[in-house]
Amino acid sequence: MIGFIIERIAFFAAIGGAGYIAFKGFSAIYRNIMLGRKEKLAGNLNTMLLVAFGQKKMFKRPIVAVLHFIFYVAFIVTQIELLEIMIDGAFGTHRFVYHLVEHIAPLRALYVFTVSSIEVLSLMTFFVTIIFFIRRDMLKIPRLSSIDLEGWPNMDAHLILLMEINLILNIFLMNTADMAVSNGAYGLWLSGIFASAFAGWDVEILHILEKVGWWGHLAGVLGFLMYLSISKHLHILLAFPNTYFTRQTPNGYLDNMESVTREVKLMMDPNAAVPESTEDGPVKFGAKDVTDLSWKNLLDAYTCTECGRCTAQCPANLTGKKLSPRTIMMKTRDRLEEVGKNIDANGGIWKDDGKSLIENGYISVEELRACTTCNACVEECPVNISPLNIIMQLRRNLIMEDSNSPAEWNGMFANLENNAAPWQFSQQDRFNWAKEQ
Ligand code: SF4
Ligand code: SF4
Repeated sequence: MIGFIIERIAFFAAIGGAGYIAFKGFSAIYRNIMLGRKEKLAGNLNTMLLVAFGQKKMFKRPIVAVLHFIFYVAFIVTQIELLEIMIDGAFGTHRFVYHLVEHIAPLRALYVFTVSSIEVLSLMTFFVTIIFFIRRDMLKIPRLSSIDLEGWPNMDAHLILLMEINLILNIFLMNTADMAVSNGAYGLWLSGIFASAFAGWDVEILHILEKVGWWGHLAGVLGFLMYLSISKHLHILLAFPNTYFTRQTPNGYLDNMESVTREVKLMMDPNAAVPESTEDGPVKFGAKDVTDLSWKNLLDAYTCTECGRCTAQCPANLTGKKLSPRTIMMKTRDRLEEVGKNIDANGGIWKDDGKSLIENGYISVEELRACTTCNACVEECPVNISPLNIIMQLRRNLIMEDSNSPAEWNGMFANLENNAAPWQFSQQDRFNWAKEQ
């Protein structure tokens, strides 16, 4: 009885502790995303179903897509067995669902089929995980081993694969010990085969092994939940809202800047009633820091999977320029995290740290200038992220607020301003070419 009570306390303490830590992490992320300025976006369910749920854009590379799909389906389906683990943990039962349906043949068959399918998927995921390790560490696929992934991003990718292996091994340990101790009563396919390895083992030892597997799997799931908020694997949650709120404007569409409209109105009528500030603060040209970007840009940053597909297609990157759209997303997230920590450390109020997203170890002017605005990164991204949208806003700020542009561009800007064309000719002379000489 004492053991039963201790185990329940340990279970609820683990759930409560992990839930609290995860909640704090996710709340901070939500708060950080909401630091962005407002952007009105209508949700689109079809886009979400196709791109996030159906993983449509992943299938541009079919082999990797199938491997990723196995990972994804296994992750979703395994949650069914997790439900039974949770019920057993809460009430101290053992295979609650099995015993509930044990004497109803069709439901029992469904139970055996479901849990056995989870085992098959888990085994497949085990091999996929090994392949993912090989791709990263032995084949050194360029987009997965480039310099911008050194340090934490690389460790993050490895940690998640190790966590996956831990989950799989523990679920097999639990099921196999259970099958061995029950003489195959649960009818599970794969663990039924593996159970022969435990033939003749002491029943007490098998019970302990089953418990180790059960707790190991639970700890893996809770650890994953707590870890998620500091990992790129947050995309398993955020890919859904991010694709739902995909901008429905054509690729390459550049929105009018309210701040420019305001200036034009003032030029035409110096007494025009134009606001000095918006509901997001003082009127600015483009974005200098993460809080000048929209909430969608910030959601993009947290959703980035760091897959590097954008960078692998970026013409600037391919021709040796410093720009990598993946790095743009990673740096935006890093800076946003820094801003969030600043707010937390100062009692919920932002204290100016004299930095911004441009330079300061984040996104350099050189990177911003290298973008050709070709949209390849947007097209490639499997979760509909737009690094270009961020680049354009930063570049607008650079030029319109800091007049920071190459000398060659300044001549063109002056021509646009004076002649409404990039050339050095007045508008009146635009048809001179057609006159007879
Ligand atoms: S839009 Fe810019 S960042 Fe994106 S692929 Fe083209 S050049 Fe690279
Ligand atoms: S922006 Fe998209 S394509 Fe680029 S690394 Fe992130 S998820 Fe991958």
